[in-house]
Amino acid sequence: MIADEAYKALEEAVGPEHVSREPAVLDTYCWQTHISQGPEIWTMRPVAVVLPASTEEVQAVVRACIEHGLKYKPFSVGWGGFAGAGKEDVVQVDLRRMDRIVEIDEKNMYAVVEPFVIAGVLQAEAMKVGLNTHIIGAGPGHSPLASATSMMGTGWDGIYMSTSFRNLLGVEWVLPSGEVLRLGSLGSGSGWFSGDGPGPSLRGIMRGFVGASGGLGIFTKCAVKLFNYPGPPKPVTSGTVLDVKTEPLTNFGLYMCVFPDQETYADATLKVGEAEIGYIHHKTSHPLLMAFLAPRFWRKLTGHSALRDAVLALRNQFTIILAADTQRELEYQKKTLEAIVSDQGGFVLNFDAFPSLQQVLWMGMIRSSVTPLVFRATGNYMVIYGADETVDSQVLHENVGEPLVKRWTEEGTVLDELADDIWAPSYENVNRAHCEHILLFDHRDREHGRAMAEQVAEAETVAIEQYLDPGFGIIAPDARKRFSPVAQNYNEYQKKIHAALDEHDVSDTTFYTDIPD
Ligand SMILES: Cc1cc2nc3c(=O)[nH]c(=O)nc-3n(C[C@H](O)[C@H](O)[C@H](O)COP(=O)(O)OP(=O)(O)OC[C@H]3O[C@@H](n4cnc5c(N)ncnc54)[C@H](O)[C@@H]3O)c2cc1C
Repeated sequence: MIADEAYKALEEAVGPEHVSREPAVLDTYCWQTHISQGPEIWTMRPVAVVLPASTEEVQAVVRACIEHGLKYKPFSVGWGGFAGAGKEDVVQVDLRRMDRIVEIDEKNMYAVVEPFVIAGVLQAEAMKVGLNTHIIGAGPGHSPLASATSMMGTGWDGIYMSTSFRNLLGVEWVLPSGEVLRLGSLGSGSGWFSGDGPGPSLRGIMRGFVGASGGLGIFTKCAVKLFNYPGPPKPVTSGTVLDVKTEPLTNFGLYMCVFPDQETYADATLKVGEAEIGYIHHKTSHPLLMAFLAPRFWRKLTGHSALRDAVLALRNQFTIILAADTQRELEYQKKTLEAIVSDQGGFVLNFDAFPSLQQVLWMGMIRSSVTPLVFRATGNYMVIYGADETVDSQVLHENVGEPLVKRWTEEGTVLDELADDIWAPSYENVNRAHCEHILLFDHRDREHGRAMAEQVAEAETVAIEQYLDPGFGIIAPDARKRFSPVAQNYNEYQKKIHAALDEHDVSDTTFYTDIPD
């Protein structure tokens, strides 16, 4: 329960019509996708929810929390699941009224956005001027601001459009004290074009690898890089996700490349990077994709050993979308790809021969719109590993996880994906590569929830034993407890940063620095 006096202060901060303590409203904030690692699926109920409309109102909310001994927890879209309250006495700061694209600077190729601008909308606006935005694997509904300032940032398009934390430029940040700090060129009054100066650069303090997940202030605006887009300004489409039809795209090509083994797959991936071709590049395992696209069909298929073998025979593969400003350049990229694949003993499947599938996958990957289908098969999913490392390390993470996933599949607590459950995109011409195992499980079954917590713990223990990069895991409190002592006590440094910037301890640090007893 929130005291009347504190509630009144929140009303004064944002206006009475933009604050609520109705239990029915508050409970709508308690289910936030895949974060729960255990049988429990609900997050804590906040004591109130506020909807500020400006930076000044966000400051007033933070100051009201300080004055009345409450904590705040920001929420941009809430797709991530780390945005719910993790403690008692938390005010949920729902930023959906801050939904403006402040500026698209076509010449300097960046956009300035507020928290509730979603990636799909930003992409549609950018495409009108021949530009595109990085969309993380979470899909078009995520907030580019939340991803770039406070979370991870991996996406299908990393080979060309990098990752959220590398695309972040100027930032406006309401600190836990309620003061505003402007980072990068914005901090010296020179506009939004750079994240690291002229002006203060605090990228590492502000977000590091995975971000503070709402535990270190509230970001109210930021600039993100935009990238070349050689497609139609307004792709003409009809239908929705799986029966979408897009007018033929002349400057794009979609290919699947299959290799005899992991070594040739990895070598070809590196060569693609060296050749500087590709707009989208990733391995998405066939079982995973089929479980997304056709869950019932996939379940039937797994009952037939010959079909299982057929799917596994195509295991070492990647999908690549090529994009070019001219047909000549597209032809060059295509020939280069064919030469690389053939040198490694592989073959190229050209999706020109399957126009309807090409259209679905083009939208699915350029817009990242297939990802939300991950919930279709079993209702929830969990990720293990998720490092950003070399291509060889990507393969290592795949192999280390495989026997674990095989066992869990036999135990029946995860969906059978033939232990080939990999999503592995690359970044910046394969400068780095990412690899995660995506486990599909039924969270309505409390046993599966319990098993999932144990499975994540086991995967992390194996990672530590084998000196693997912890990947995304480092956000969750249990994982932080395991990894921090073997990774230079990073959590102790995070605690120091938090103590320096949050003297009133007003932030909900559940997913930033807290460690369970
Ligand atoms: C199906 C699915 C797939 C996913 N795939 C990916 C993926 O491929 N790559 C990836 O990087 N992530 C992925 N995620 C995780 C997550 O969705 C993203 O990291 C995303 O950035 C967070 O979602 P959001 O934009 O809705 O932000 P929210 O859920 O609103 O917030 C995310 C976190 O940032 C904090 N936060 C939000 N806004 C602010 C703000 N303005 N100031 C300070 N803190 C703030 C929140 O408190 C929370 O801890 C996936 C999630 C789902 C559900």
